[in-house]
Amino acid sequence: MMVILLGPPGAGKGTQSRRLSDEFQIPQISTGDLLREARAQKTDLGEKAEAYMKSGRLVPDDLVISLIEDRLERPDCQNGCILDGFPRTLAQAESLQKSLKVKGKALSHVINLKVSSDEVVERLSGRRQCSQCGENYHLHFKPTTVQNLCDRCGGQLFQRDDDQESVIRERLRVYENQTAPLVQFYSQLGLLQQIAGIGAMDDIYQKLRQTLRGESR
Ligand code: AMP
Repeated sequence: MMVILLGPPGAGKGTQSRRLSDEFQIPQISTGDLLREARAQKTDLGEKAEAYMKSGRLVPDDLVISLIEDRLERPDCQNGCILDGFPRTLAQAESLQKSLKVKGKALSHVINLKVSSDEVVERLSGRRQCSQCGENYHLHFKPTTVQNLCDRCGGQLFQRDDDQESVIRERLRVYENQTAPLVQFYSQLGLLQQIAGIGAMDDIYQKLRQTLRGESR
């Protein structure tokens, strides 16, 4: 099962794909997480990516494509994976299609989580993330039991530097210009399925898992 979760920043791709990964026993691969890891480790890639990420712009295609190519080669991807935050440009999508074809593989599902811009700003400006396990919380919609500590692992929460309102607006602009065209791209390939990303997280999750279970190709 090879799944892409599309949708604007803050659509819930990370939270939902982590849960799908647990249930379907395939890895969740988030290019955002991989890039944040590279930044934390101060690798060459991390240093190159930093300025783009801080300002809400996309990291150049060649860097992200080689990062994902390496990740997809790892043995845990043999039975598939859930891609979260990749592809984000037409060049990335085309490169993925080519690379899967060479390996005799194909995408099984492309799901677009639809959420409005106002909702995105509200969600992201209150979002907090666990510094250890990556779990997402929200100051109002999903608070932790103990303030500032992750319910799952006890790690400290932090606010991502790109979750400031001015950067969120830039990320949305980038999404509209560079990523939204992928909806059309996958629709033309006959792969696109749309799910409304608003409402209770659990209801959205149920729709996602039904989509993956019912139509696993
Ligand atoms: P995310 O955690 O998915 O919201 O990603 C955070 C940031 O990482 C984005 O705003 C981009 O700067 C960068 N990034 C993540 N995935 C990609 C990608 N597929 N292409 C380019 N930049 C990316």
